[in-house]
Amino acid sequence: MLSRLFRRSAVDCTMRIVPAGREVKVNAKSTLLQAALDQSIPFPHDCRAGGCGKCKCRLVSGKVRELTDKSYILSAEELKQNYILACQSTAQTDVTVEVDIDARGRPAHPVIHTRGEITALDPLTHDIMRVQARLEDPAIYTAGQYAEIYVPGVIKDGAREARSYSFASAPGTAGTVGTVSFFIRRVPGGGFTEWLFNEAKVGTVLEGHGPYGDFWLRPGDAPLLCIAGGSGLAPILALLEQAQIEGVTRDVTLFFGARAQRDLYALDRIEALKANWHGKFAFEPVLSAETDDSGWTGRRGFIPEHFEAVLGTRIGQHHAYLCGPPPMIDACIKVLNDAGIGEEGIFFDKFLDRSHVVEA
Ligand SMILES: Cc1cc2nc3c(=O)[nH]c(=O)nc-3n(C[C@H](O)[C@H](O)[C@H](O)COP(=O)(O)OP(=O)(O)OC[C@H]3O[C@@H](n4cnc5c(N)ncnc54)[C@H](O)[C@@H]3O)c2cc1C
Repeated sequence: MLSRLFRRSAVDCTMRIVPAGREVKVNAKSTLLQAALDQSIPFPHDCRAGGCGKCKCRLVSGKVRELTDKSYILSAEELKQNYILACQSTAQTDVTVEVDIDARGRPAHPVIHTRGEITALDPLTHDIMRVQARLEDPAIYTAGQYAEIYVPGVIKDGAREARSYSFASAPGTAGTVGTVSFFIRRVPGGGFTEWLFNEAKVGTVLEGHGPYGDFWLRPGDAPLLCIAGGSGLAPILALLEQAQIEGVTRDVTLFFGARAQRDLYALDRIEALKANWHGKFAFEPVLSAETDDSGWTGRRGFIPEHFEAVLGTRIGQHHAYLCGPPPMIDACIKVLNDAGIGEEGIFFDKFLDRSHVVEA
């Protein structure tokens, strides 16, 4: 009863962000992260599903409700210091959180809600489709970021369910003005992708919002080690194509992990990048399940097994950008850390789905 007297209606709670000293209104339906992004505050984040830990912040004061179990993501020390995940917390009172929102160059494009008509659906492999859509409002994003697309007809706890998809081309390069593209992999039993592969047609209207994400090319001179798995090639290609437009001259090694030759795609775009890159550009496809008699003479196995052969002792000089399935990213990061590349030189987007999120 007493706590009810002191608890403000969640509708008019505020979140104070220190040390930047910014204030954000938080309504009952929004997570702290969503409220910040809706008000164009560049709060660090990636997956927005409680799986990557990028939106962690220290709860300095106030009370939050947590939607998923954070103990899988945060360390024992972080839990002791009252860290929370902003994407999985709603405010129950006014709160103050501590997080650095002023990192140099972090994109702060306003989040927009818009609709887009599908203009092309092109199969790239047996289970990856390139989806092109013309948006009613042009999306302003930085290459590497993603959008949230609503799953048609699915509502949970009064809110429409959405899934994250990375833009697969540099801004303004997917076709006519306002056109964006995505590479979407079919997930068996998946709510959105089964609908997309079975029911969506050219002319179908998608709805969504964005941009989101902290996966974008940081300025610097270090050579780039780009690692993509499956549909994780989407933001890597966007980011490299944007870098090429901007005249970036850093050497690039691009690893592309897939199961078999039939899972490789967009090779023409990679070849074009390689041919026109203003520096060295090495492309290394690695197949994990290609049959012995297929005639494949390229690399086999898993990507980290090839770091030494391709990069030798230079590996530690790189900045790494990784995108794709979480196990691939975790395995690569472990080897990169051992090779001396620390947190400041590793950037990644894990393509988490609902099977990775643990409810509180
Ligand atoms: C930042 C980010 C960017 C992404 N970008 C891309 C991209 O560019 N391209 C791409 O293809 N994907 C991308 N993804 C993944 C994408 O958002 C979806 O998660 C994926 O497409 C699956 O969506 P779905 O609705 O088809 O499957 P879901 O309905 O989410 O189901 C996924 C799997 O989980 C299982 N499942 C469902 N509910 C539960 C539950 N409660 N417990 C356990 N298992 C469950 C399902 O059976 C299925 O196997 C990205 C993810 C993130 C976080």
